[in-house]
Amino acid sequence: MAQQPRNYKMMIGGEFVTAASGKTREIRDPGNGHVVAIVPEGGKEDIDAAVGKARQAFDHGPWKQTSALDRGKLLFRIADGIRANAAKLAELEVLSCGKPLAEAEYDIADAANCFEFYGGMATKIHGETMQVPANSLSFVVREPIGVCGQIVPWNYPLLMSSWKLAPALAAGNTCVLKPSELTPLTALELASILVEAGVPSGVVNIVTGPGPGCGDALSAHPQVDKIAFTGGTATGRHVMNAAAGNLKKVSLELGGKNPNIVFADADFEAAVDGALFGAFANQGEVCSAGSRLLVDRKIHKKFVEAMVKKIPNIKVGHGMTPGVKMGPVVSRLHLEKIEGYVASGIAEGAKLVCGGKRPSDKSLAGGNFIEPTIFDDVTPSMKIAREEIFGPVLAVIPFDTEEEAIQIANDTEYGLAAGVWSRDINRALRVVRELRCGITWINTYHPTFNEMPWGGYKQSGTGRELGLYGIEEYLETKQVNINLDEAPIAWY
Ligand code: NAD
Repeated sequence: MAQQPRNYKMMIGGEFVTAASGKTREIRDPGNGHVVAIVPEGGKEDIDAAVGKARQAFDHGPWKQTSALDRGKLLFRIADGIRANAAKLAELEVLSCGKPLAEAEYDIADAANCFEFYGGMATKIHGETMQVPANSLSFVVREPIGVCGQIVPWNYPLLMSSWKLAPALAAGNTCVLKPSELTPLTALELASILVEAGVPSGVVNIVTGPGPGCGDALSAHPQVDKIAFTGGTATGRHVMNAAAGNLKKVSLELGGKNPNIVFADADFEAAVDGALFGAFANQGEVCSAGSRLLVDRKIHKKFVEAMVKKIPNIKVGHGMTPGVKMGPVVSRLHLEKIEGYVASGIAEGAKLVCGGKRPSDKSLAGGNFIEPTIFDDVTPSMKIAREEIFGPVLAVIPFDTEEEAIQIANDTEYGLAAGVWSRDINRALRVVRELRCGITWINTYHPTFNEMPWGGYKQSGTGRELGLYGIEEYLETKQVNINLDEAPIAWY
């Protein structure tokens, strides 16, 4: 597994380049701390260059004349390129963000599917005509917005990049993508796939660098027409402020503190599995993680016991080790932040029923590992019930009535996702109707489909990615009005 660190370059205007400053950053394997790659540490100068190339490609390049059919075919070739490189891409996701290989393989397949989904949609973009008063014919045409700045987080590096690039390209925009400084490797590999697929130079530019100095330069850039951001809610607020300078279109996919609600009439075993998967998939580093488990008091004790019994099945280890179900969290800093939340849960009187510490296995000491952690008897006002931990920490909150479950579920500044477990479909739908969030699951947790819109209510964001809704974020709407009357209007 130990490999020589590979040197990467970023892509600006179809060229593979170093940062203008010459600065680089080491990318470390969160499972053991080894350096796996060296990447350029881009900054404002690189963003300026990339935006210039994207602007040129949008305003004057051949891209504008590329038909929807050809854009669609291009996206299909990108999907093929991702599939052809799937093994390498999946390994790089493991080595930079820590997730188990099986999860990374799933993400890569889904990224390819996303390009294919939007490849098919390129030729379905259409306007409409409306009946208007007087002797006029009016119609609507849809056009690309222009240069899109796209900023993605570290938890699903290639998938989040695909959710942004695929619809933007299908709609005919040009892009400057900034991956997370912690996990830029698959985006940099994607650069080569894009070139091979025939993406014209300047249409996609990929700049690696940190939030401050690089991401903020992109958000504030006056030549960028739209900014699409996925990340933390506090960062989203910065991005929105920065985008205000030239009133960019803004779409934000932000954090969550998502309720997973289990009623006593649920299929018990399915709900136990769903609660664990909702909380611990991808080490809990998922915006939609079911990090608040609301359990009907009638089954609460038995439910927690059943979950704890299954915890040993969640084998913790390096993501490339066969059988591992939970990898390290992304960085030492993030591990310490999660440990801070564990300490706060204990201090506020929640009952720690499992985990809460680094594994005792000495072979894992070099990585950012923490055991899957469950707190029981959490009250809705505790910090661990209110703040997004973004790690494998589950807060169990018992409830007595359906009304109380809904009230607790909605008692959050976030509104991303929620799960409901019940055999009573009327109840499940009644509860879903009351939930103030953008993504809901009944008797399941986490399935995410390229066909369905993804995004949040309240402070979980604005706009939607994926599905037919996702492409709307990358299209302008123009009305065209034709006077069918040849006589002057004779107003004056
Ligand atoms: P983050 O907000 O720290 O960083 C996200 C991206 O923003 C990174 O590329 C980072 O470099 C950049 N950035 C940081 N500061 C910036 C600034 N001032 N201006 C512009 N860009 C800046 O988030 P993270 O820690 O990488 O990811 C975790 C967060 O992402 C969680 O809150 C999670 O819920 C959220 N997330 C949301 C979704 C969703 O679809 N709603 C999906 C995945 C992750």
